[in-house]
Amino acid sequence: MADDSQGGFFSDLFAPVAGFGVTFATMFRKVATQEYPEVKWPTQPRFHGRHQLNRHPDGLEKCIGCELCAWACPADAILVQGGDNDDERGLRFSPGERYGHIYQINYLRCIFCGLCIEACPTRALTMTNEYELADNNRADLIFTKEQLLAPMQEGMLPAPHPMVEGMQERDYYQGKVAAATDAQREWVDQHAAATSDGASAGSAAGTTADTTEEVR
Ligand code: SF4
Ligand code: SF4
Repeated sequence: MADDSQGGFFSDLFAPVAGFGVTFATMFRKVATQEYPEVKWPTQPRFHGRHQLNRHPDGLEKCIGCELCAWACPADAILVQGGDNDDERGLRFSPGERYGHIYQINYLRCIFCGLCIEACPTRALTMTNEYELADNNRADLIFTKEQLLAPMQEGMLPAPHPMVEGMQERDYYQGKVAAATDAQREWVDQHAAATSDGASAGSAAGTTADTTEEVR
């Protein structure tokens, strides 16, 4: 009867290295390691990252403080308190009656499901592709309105300021406003000092309270 424990000449020769076959083969494959964070790979275009509160082309905010996003959130991660726009006091932050006075998103709770942006009736709230949201303390992961607001683009004026002259709220949503007008710029120049107090009471009201009031 043949002895099965005896191999041929070549099998005996390569036996010591046979166990390294996978290792050797892997050495010649393309390296899959990503040099993060030095090299950041782009996400898919519809990746759900950090939220953003958008603005109209003249700089007024799109958020109307309706709280629908907060109600839609399954993780209870959003806190919104609406406020009344007040033209007489120079405190208009959005077209229409109301604006988002306080707005916070708690990224310790958020599961990036996107239900909030689906619920938003004005497309004020969208999600960016930004995913670097780690931190080493709880407070810094509660983002305030100031942090979430979209950066100013060319042609915008920071709120508060009046709506474009002759335009109604619906005109903003019908895309009839393309940029801030000279009249709005003039108003901002004239009210710069006055609105700095107002901004403290309005926009920054969102900010002051933002930093002190946590999401549940
Ligand atoms: S993405 Fe989902 S969990 Fe995060 S705030 Fe929006 S609704 Fe809440
Ligand atoms: S972000 Fe949208 S849904 Fe949330 S309060 Fe503002 S307008 Fe309403």
